[in-house]
Amino acid sequence: MTFSDLGLRAELLRAVEAQGYTTPTPIQHQAIPAVLKGGDLLASAQTGTGKTAGFTLPMLQRLADGPRPAARQIRALVLTPTRELAAQVGESVADYGRHLTLKSHVIFGGVGQQPQVDAIRKGLDVLVATPGRLLDLQQQKHVDLSKVEILVLDEADRMLDMGFIHDIKKILRVLPEKRQNLLFSATFSNEIQALANKLLDDPAMIEVARRNTTAELVDQAIYRVDREKKRDLLAHLITRHDWQQVLVFTRTKHGANRLAEQLSKQDIPSMAIHGNKSQSARTKALAAFKTGDLQVLVATDIAARGLDIEELPHVVNFELPNVAEDYVHRIGRTGRAGSEGKAVSLVCVDEHGLLKGIERLIKRDLEKRIEPGFEPDPDAKPEPIENGRGKRGGGGGRNGQGQRRQGQASGQRRGGDEARAPRRQRGGRGGSRQA
Ligand code: AMP
Repeated sequence: MTFSDLGLRAELLRAVEAQGYTTPTPIQHQAIPAVLKGGDLLASAQTGTGKTAGFTLPMLQRLADGPRPAARQIRALVLTPTRELAAQVGESVADYGRHLTLKSHVIFGGVGQQPQVDAIRKGLDVLVATPGRLLDLQQQKHVDLSKVEILVLDEADRMLDMGFIHDIKKILRVLPEKRQNLLFSATFSNEIQALANKLLDDPAMIEVARRNTTAELVDQAIYRVDREKKRDLLAHLITRHDWQQVLVFTRTKHGANRLAEQLSKQDIPSMAIHGNKSQSARTKALAAFKTGDLQVLVATDIAARGLDIEELPHVVNFELPNVAEDYVHRIGRTGRAGSEGKAVSLVCVDEHGLLKGIERLIKRDLEKRIEPGFEPDPDAKPEPIENGRGKRGGGGGRNGQGQRRQGQASGQRRGGDEARAPRRQRGGRGGSRQA
């Protein structure tokens, strides 16, 4: 199976070829013909599966094939939960659309709105946006969404987790009734089902192998260690194995900052990335990490979501996530595009319940290791796990999910001290380009 077998036009095939892709991934194989047919789509797919091209390519084709309005108007709208993901999707739209005459732009929070307003005023065919900033601009009448033909909700589960449901509903109200809807989500909670039922009309359903099966390429191990010795163990593992590019996950922004500082003091160049960092600090850290100048990037789940870092050799869970599915997202950063990766989790006595929840979810027992010199105290007593918003008991994965649902029901955002990040990130930049 090749891309040309999927019915894509020559301009798009040239762009795909320039990216070096020869074979469609399973999600592309299924999604591209389904979207080209013009119907709605419900796809279960995570980052790393090639889902972005799976919706971008047929979306661009439909826009290029359809009747062109006299003046440019926003005909496709892609919503993403984070600005990093918006920027990445925007890049894909520009890359794949480089031989077409469509124009695209990315808007997200955290930067001034005037350049975005200017870009929109000049005329766009495709707008990629995070919900908060888009709604701000829509309410100020800077953006007209009444001609949208295709709506994509990318990582819809994460958008709901981050509390964007009300913004999304408001945006839906200003879209035309008749349009094509594509919904991508890694998980299918009741909330996602409810959204899909409301949004989608007789959708084609696509499910590609979940990360917990595709992640077979990832070598996963647990190091049992005392809470207080995690930092030294991490520095020891990095140095001893000479790990050069390590993405480390912590549960809180504060924890990410502290760990990055401490590792840097031990001559392991490290930076933290999370929702409180300015956009330029995040971009700088990510760029340095990608080029290999920065050895360690410490991130919270929300900040790391959607980062496209290819062939990342090492992911470390400095702390296990409260939500078992986040473990799967985290280790999905390694072993991408067929390369092998290693995922290591440092687990102390507080986290045994969380570990059980993860093993239940991925349906396998993870290999447990003890590093000589870092043997855990067999008499250590579990303590409540801090999640940045106060303390709570360290329960299993189920417990973690239960907590999340409660948070949503009361209108809170998820994820401890990372939870309010998307609101503060409002504001945006981006650059108009040929889509
Ligand atoms: P995504 O799931 O859209 O974030 O894509 C994950 C990664 O796979 C990105 O780095 C893409 O550039 C890459 N990718 C997408 N499609 C293909 C393909 N058909 N063959 C190889 N790599 C691909």
